[in-house]
Amino acid sequence: MPIDHHQPYDDSNIFARILRGELPATKVLETEHSLALHDINPLAPVHVLVIPKGAYVSWDDFAANASEAEIADFVRAIGETARKVGAEPQGYRMLANTGKRAGQEVPHLHVHLFGGQPLGPMLA
Ligand code: IMP
Repeated sequence: MPIDHHQPYDDSNIFARILRGELPATKVLETEHSLALHDINPLAPVHVLVIPKGAYVSWDDFAANASEAEIADFVRAIGETARKVGAEPQGYRMLANTGKRAGQEVPHLHVHLFGGQPLGPMLA
């Protein structure tokens, strides 16, 4: 169900459960503050999700409240993940659905990383 990205953090969401080790995930990269995992329902040959380990509902929440160290780690983790899965230097797309109007379903910030094929103007 789509979520309101201004709601309080709900630690029963699926990525919180993955971060606590309660649910399995195919990890691509792990850093001090970030985790990259394969999307369970890939929309492209490369479809990875990069999430902060901290409890942030959305990009908006993260940008406003995360520490400089968390932000730097997250940005670098996305770039490192792209190189690790071969999406860089081929070319790739990052996308963060923010709020229910944008189709965000999981209320823990995640950046989608798509690659492995030529990408059209939009990837729904
Ligand atoms: P959103 O629509 O931007 O919130 O994207 C949520 C993404 O999480 C979707 O692409 C789902 O396929 C993905 N997803 C849901 N559950 C899992 C899981 O357990 N592991 C990995 N990805 C998941």
